[in-house]
Amino acid sequence: TIDRTQREYSAAVKKALARKPQLFINGEWVDSSGDATIDVEDPSSGKVVSSFVEATDKDVDRAVAAARVAFDDERWRGMPPIAREKIMHRLADLIEAHADEFAELEAIDVGKPKGMAAMIDVPGAVAHIRYMAGWAGKINGETIAPYTMPGGMMFAYTLKEPVGVCAQIVPWNFPLLMACLKIAPALAAGCTTILKPAEQTSLTALRLADMVMEAGIPAGVVNIITGYGHTGGDRLVKHPDVDKVAFTGSTEIGKLINKNATDTLKHVTLELGGKSPVVVMPDVDVAETAPGVSQAIFFNSGQVCVAGSRLYAHKSVFDKVVEGMAETAEFWAPRASLDPTAHMGPLVSAEQHERVMGYIDAGKRDGASVLMGGDVPSSDGGYYVNPTILTDVNPQMSVVREEIFGPVVVAQRFDDINDVVKEANDTQYGLAAGVWTKDVSAAHRIASKLQAGTVWINCHAMIDTAIPFGGYKESGIGHEQGRLGLEAYLETKAVMMKL
Ligand code: NAD
Repeated sequence: TIDRTQREYSAAVKKALARKPQLFINGEWVDSSGDATIDVEDPSSGKVVSSFVEATDKDVDRAVAAARVAFDDERWRGMPPIAREKIMHRLADLIEAHADEFAELEAIDVGKPKGMAAMIDVPGAVAHIRYMAGWAGKINGETIAPYTMPGGMMFAYTLKEPVGVCAQIVPWNFPLLMACLKIAPALAAGCTTILKPAEQTSLTALRLADMVMEAGIPAGVVNIITGYGHTGGDRLVKHPDVDKVAFTGSTEIGKLINKNATDTLKHVTLELGGKSPVVVMPDVDVAETAPGVSQAIFFNSGQVCVAGSRLYAHKSVFDKVVEGMAETAEFWAPRASLDPTAHMGPLVSAEQHERVMGYIDAGKRDGASVLMGGDVPSSDGGYYVNPTILTDVNPQMSVVREEIFGPVVVAQRFDDINDVVKEANDTQYGLAAGVWTKDVSAAHRIASKLQAGTVWINCHAMIDTAIPFGGYKESGIGHEQGRLGLEAYLETKAVMMKL
């Protein structure tokens, strides 16, 4: 049996947990206008370890006002781009210098293994800032060659300008990474921002605020407010002084935000949910593929927007692939997040635990067979779920149709490649998909047929800051990362002159 007792926190983390609940507005720590706070729970133990502010409407207005002034007086966008770039690199360096503390904070806030946070979340956050810093000095419009119109000779050019004040709302599965993914393009473009982390996981965003200040980002350019979505988040989305909303989260809330932003016609980018199919062709090397498709679903306890949650394996290899996946059960056995041997931790919260177990139970009721897991391991508190493989499923079951956002994969066999492409595309979502094969032509043919913003071949969830990321169908609007990610924070102005 695995001892799932959480380890002792480091001194740096204890200090961060003891911080007074405050908001980061206009370059300083300020008290809320109210006195409501939200508890921070360590999902590995279920114990409350800290608390932070639940922002009031007044707090939100104050943050927006600070961002508005900072945008309008051009204290950031008016700086030489190279100076902005340098400050962004300083911010990246500061995060890197505190990598261990960030990884531990993320581990006790989300429940993800500290080693995973140290390998993925923190370096990813740093990379996003460094990548976008490089764009700050490379933003330019175009000139249009002079030409004759009825009124005379015209000369025109375009200017790329920052969209303005941004509201950036992020989920709980990769809190620091998502925060940096959001603020980096906004900063590179010359925008100002109000970032709202998820109410389950605000610790690293608050620590990030210290570094925003230390890096020398001018007051009001980055504001960080904590609180609930339906209160503080909603206020931000509807605020008339906000020009753009960038949201990552569930499709349900994304649709609501899109509606709420309509009255003020804000720019909206949405990165939403998924139910990503993974197609395994008959020619694969099972020894490589089984661990790969297991990682596609069990990494971060399946709480990944691109999780490979629907497996379609060709009937000739199906049994071998799922058996190979079942052999990874020990590797993925959930452990406390500060256990150095952990590859998977608990789920983020009691609510998420209930949701995931609810889906597993619904799957069983609907007639699915449990090939692995499907239950809760023994622990003294905490929100653990064993990695789960369900077979004997059909396309009508909720476990096949809906995003579970937990370590649960539904495995199905296929015979004909055309049929499997149809089945893979039979979903409201279109975030990502995977193909495993040695047949290069088949790989590209299938990739072109899958309705998804990203298709991985012989790998999964490889995210890189230089590669655009976005969802088809109900998985989103717009892109993040790469040049497109920067463009999402820019307006294009045409200037025409009669010569
Ligand atoms: P969620 O939609 O419940 O919440 C996300 C954020 O939105 C939180 O900060 C929350 O406080 C805020 N929010 C909630 N209601 C709001 C409202 N009415 N107005 C404004 N803000 C509001 O999502 P979650 O449970 O935190 O995260 C899980 C979801 O996120 C999954 O569906 C997952 O697929 C998705 N996700 C998508 C991506 C992507 O890039 N496509 C990445 C990570 C997670």
